[in-house]
Amino acid sequence: MVNKSRIVEEFLRLVQIDSPSLHERELADYLKQALTQLGLNVYEDDAGKAIGGSCTPQTGNIIATNRGTMPGAPTLLFCAHIDTVEPGRGVKPVIRDDAIYSDGSTILGSDDKAGIAAIIEVLHILHEQQVPHGDIEIVFTVAEECGLRGAKNLDYKRLKAAAAYVLDCDGPAGTIITRAPSQYRITASIIGKAAHAGISPEDGINAIQVASAAIARMKLGRIDAETTANIGVISGGKATNIIPDLVNIEGETRSIDPAKLEKQTETMVDTIRKTALEMGAEARVEKELLYPRLKLDESAQVVKWAVTAARSLGREAVLVSTGGGSDANILNGYGIPTANLGIGMSKVHSTEEYITIDNLVLNARYLMEIIRTAY
Ligand SMILES: [Zn+2]
Repeated sequence: MVNKSRIVEEFLRLVQIDSPSLHERELADYLKQALTQLGLNVYEDDAGKAIGGSCTPQTGNIIATNRGTMPGAPTLLFCAHIDTVEPGRGVKPVIRDDAIYSDGSTILGSDDKAGIAAIIEVLHILHEQQVPHGDIEIVFTVAEECGLRGAKNLDYKRLKAAAAYVLDCDGPAGTIITRAPSQYRITASIIGKAAHAGISPEDGINAIQVASAAIARMKLGRIDAETTANIGVISGGKATNIIPDLVNIEGETRSIDPAKLEKQTETMVDTIRKTALEMGAEARVEKELLYPRLKLDESAQVVKWAVTAARSLGREAVLVSTGGGSDANILNGYGIPTANLGIGMSKVHSTEEYITIDNLVLNARYLMEIIRTAY
């Protein structure tokens, strides 16, 4: 059913349209036109205004609906993000050994254009063939790679999906992400007191020393099977002869368990505050919840459909827990049960990124099988 040369051509076209995060206008316009030609109702939401970004007009998320043939049937949603990381401009795809690579100077952009290509191929098939189905909603998000900002600002009022699939994970079709952590960002400024390091060091309070003491007291790295913590950025100080009066620290915590997440985050925040107090400095600490967790039960309908569809294709269904967040976390947070699916992309976010043509085709077959299973 899947047209191999069509999906390969579409994929090659998509990766050659530049769309680094916050510069998605050209690809958004292309996709809006493609979806309209396939008979969908297409809408671009106002996320672009909320996110900002430097292209004009700023790009919103694309929401499109493919009207179903089964009145009353539940609505399914497929989602992929249209932005890429850098270096992602001027991608020149190269086909080698039945796989598609970049020319080595850029990423390829199979993250997440392999997901987009699968969705478009499925819409072609639905357009051409009599496959009974309910309404199918398509969401193409912007600014995923810079903090899931498209999904966070998505116009959820327009959606009525009962279940959703985000196509944005490595591992081949049949890989089903059902668990992903929630994440806090922690930012802190330690304010000490500047003084000449040689003439009057007793007048100073060394913010670097305070920050170091606080970080040395923290448990970081893997806290337990479900929880991780990191301090990833530290900056401050001006010269060796000045006692530094300011250090900025940035860190994060992640956990699938909300109570553990709160506990680890609070412990780190408290450690910074207490250490600063003890050493005569001041600490301004902030925490921000970046995204909610993703936790789907094996018995959830959205999971069962994905598992059944994988097996119908003779593939193993593997339920996976991951350490990273995706648009699936955000959609779940808004009450749409959402699994993240493996689409067989490899070495993403690197110039060695590639995807096999078999995986491109398999992704579209898998989505068709999910549709058949759900309806
Ligand atoms: Zn991605």
